[in-house]
Amino acid sequence: MTMIDKIKELEKTSQLLDPGQDQRDQWNSEVLDYANTFINTLDTSKAFYHSEENGKSLYKLDITEEATDLTSLLESTKANIDLVGINPASNGHMGYIPGGGLYPSALGDYIAAISNRYAGAFFTAPGAVRLENMLIRWMCRLMGYPENAIGNLTSGGSIANLIAIVTAREAYGIKARDIENSVIYLSEQAHHSIQKAIRIAGLSEVQLRYIPLDKGLRLSVTELEKAILSDKEKGLKPFFINASFGTTNTGAIDPIDPIAAIAEKYNLWFHVDAAYGGFFKLVAGMDPKFRGIEKADSITLDPHKTLFLPFGTGCILIKNKEKLFKAFHYLADYMQDTVDAIEEVSPADISPELTKHFRGMRLWLPLKLFGLKPFRAALQEKLLLTRYFYDKIKQTEGFEVGPEPELSVAMFRYIPSGGDANEFNKKLIRAIQTDGRIFLSSTTVDGIFWIRVAVVIFRIHLEQMDLLLRIIQEKVDELSDK
Ligand SMILES: *Cc1c(COP(=O)(O)O)cnc(C)c1O
Repeated sequence: MTMIDKIKELEKTSQLLDPGQDQRDQWNSEVLDYANTFINTLDTSKAFYHSEENGKSLYKLDITEEATDLTSLLESTKANIDLVGINPASNGHMGYIPGGGLYPSALGDYIAAISNRYAGAFFTAPGAVRLENMLIRWMCRLMGYPENAIGNLTSGGSIANLIAIVTAREAYGIKARDIENSVIYLSEQAHHSIQKAIRIAGLSEVQLRYIPLDKGLRLSVTELEKAILSDKEKGLKPFFINASFGTTNTGAIDPIDPIAAIAEKYNLWFHVDAAYGGFFKLVAGMDPKFRGIEKADSITLDPHKTLFLPFGTGCILIKNKEKLFKAFHYLADYMQDTVDAIEEVSPADISPELTKHFRGMRLWLPLKLFGLKPFRAALQEKLLLTRYFYDKIKQTEGFEVGPEPELSVAMFRYIPSGGDANEFNKKLIRAIQTDGRIFLSSTTVDGIFWIRVAVVIFRIHLEQMDLLLRIIQEKVDELSDK
């Protein structure tokens, strides 16, 4: 066989990777049917599926030489992936913060995957980079940041926090020999991605100061200042404060403005982790809670939480463009002075990624197709639904509630007339999860076992809160009868 014959033979097979319209139409229609059935049956789907098998049959579809038909792949997807575990698209998912998944984002992903624009660099995809930077500037304005602030669309809040910590580390010139004398301030309620990022950033030997909390589980400013002063006295180098705008556990908001003042006074990097709470800025009347956030050096936001996007979209905002560039650009040293001269900063110069998913499309499409109005309404609705639930359960005989919800997370527990309350509530959460119509999670604060309700999924409305109240009462009655 000549080389030309071999190439032609290979071409015939490799062309299978580029199906024609008939094949595409058939696949499109099957996938659309799948998606429509999924969405149209969400009302009767469970929020949590118990399964002994836990999707193990999926292994039967391991990778082989031969092609498999889409129908059997979708059947397996349904049985082994969608009908197992938590269903984050469900209006009964109130266990954790992220979930939902706006429909136009799927269309945005579809377009981004088809055209496959190289969104890592301005040179290769000026339009795609402009789109992402425009979205980032919108989020900067939302947080009160100056026009020349910058940021990056990340895969999630964890990577956003990592970028903030690495930027601060470089901005403060912390080298190996400085690590054990450098101090980071945070509270026990900080999201664990902060500790994880500290380790990934090579800072595990840094001094971590857990600042005591007030009754609302917010970081105490007086204690923070005391700790900084005492560390300075010891000759240590305080350099980073993490505040949470909405803790994952209870939705508590650390006192942002007073912390900003302390960060400024002692020249520390001030990071606000607003992965959960940040987009509540869209709700009228929430401004006072955000006071001072514009003074932060960096802010983490998570569109796949409170903008209801499907998973895979976070965001870091950094006030000082040069500091972010300094921490992440590579090779292009000679371009450092031209950061401002470039029309748009390339994501590859300000993040760990080079080739990356064109995330902007999945964020831009829903924001433009819907406009901001329904987002504002949905977020305010979630705040009020949480308040509604909190007030109701508080008034129900036998129940105790956690701190007043500042955002859309509430905690409660049942106090049985006899026996151990923690044990009872462990049984209660198990009973609710096994029932599966609504999925809740639990947490422990100071040795007390609490059940958590997180109202973040855009599909949750009043009806689901009433159903939840009924389910809780039903399970408490069943457990009390035993
Ligand atoms: C969810 C969350 C994170 C982590 O974000 P991911 O998108 O899950 O990586 C960080 N901080 C807070 C406060 C969060 O709620």
